[in-house]
Amino acid sequence: MEIENLLRENIRKLQPYSCARDEFKGEASVYLDANENPYNEPFNRYPDPLQLKVKKQISLIKGVHVKNIFLGNGSDEAIDLLYRAFCEPRVDNVVAIEPTYGMYRVSAEINDIEYRKVLLGDNFDFSALKLLDKANENTKLIWICSPNNPTGNSLNRDEIHKLLYWFRGIVVLDEAYIDFASEESFSKYLPQYPNLVILQTFSKAWGNAGIRLGMAFASSEIISVLNKIKYPYNINILTQKQALNALKNGEQVKEWVETILSERKNLIKALFQLRYVYYIYPSDANFVLVKVEDANALYQFLVNKSIIVRNRNTVMLCNNCVRITVGTPEENTILLGQLKKF
Ligand SMILES: *Cc1c(COP(=O)(O)O)cnc(C)c1O
Repeated sequence: MEIENLLRENIRKLQPYSCARDEFKGEASVYLDANENPYNEPFNRYPDPLQLKVKKQISLIKGVHVKNIFLGNGSDEAIDLLYRAFCEPRVDNVVAIEPTYGMYRVSAEINDIEYRKVLLGDNFDFSALKLLDKANENTKLIWICSPNNPTGNSLNRDEIHKLLYWFRGIVVLDEAYIDFASEESFSKYLPQYPNLVILQTFSKAWGNAGIRLGMAFASSEIISVLNKIKYPYNINILTQKQALNALKNGEQVKEWVETILSERKNLIKALFQLRYVYYIYPSDANFVLVKVEDANALYQFLVNKSIIVRNRNTVMLCNNCVRITVGTPEENTILLGQLKKF
């Protein structure tokens, strides 16, 4: 499969912007190439456009080559760039599972790309065949998310393999919640599937939603395209510094994840005791989707108690569901205290 043939023509032909830090790479003692102010170190300098230091650390932790890593201003940037690279406005389309993360649709609409939804089946699982049925020769991307938001479940791995094998376009697998999952990342299959793009993020298990840093793992062909079309200095110095700090904190992240998983278990147990809770969907993420008697009323009740959960009542297949993020033990106790009074 040729990635190049999937690209939009303008992107294939694009001569990318060449910035000062692209022309000279390495260490020097005097930098007079980028019209920077020579004062106010270190913030006077433009950041590394390809974030090599950060990528080397990520590479060690994730076991993915630097050349297979793209970094963006949140996963949101990678999502947008994938549309801009592969989807011709008003011509091409994408297929996605439903319900799932809302940004895939919003970004499609911003880019004027038709967004085709395929409802998840029983137990919120998906069928590769149904997604492929919905695709045609203009389908460039298929979006799947595992563990899925807002349903919380990991998708069936055999179906993901089938999709990657049969689809003649790009399969984007969003693994934002993979660190909470009992399943392992698909990153080890990157060499096997040139059409696989995996999204991960610093916003969830890594505890750094505020620095806006998302990762995409893919074949070097796809990564080169994303690097070619991104803003040259898309990841600022503060973010790169804080990412390096975070990456040294692997042990801390592991502890956080363990605590959150044990709290998830406690939360589920306690929720089962409540008479108005009809169902708690199995979760492989740091949140639980809960079906209740009246989601709107419960949501409003909690807001009045200064506790905010996500009301998913209007989302397809999530009628009367609220999505609750697992908090600290103290926060979960406060939540359960109020839930008992509802
Ligand atoms: C939270 C989340 C993200 C993270 O997005 P960022 O832009 O990296 O903060 C990505 N995908 C899904 C499915 C999410 O739920």
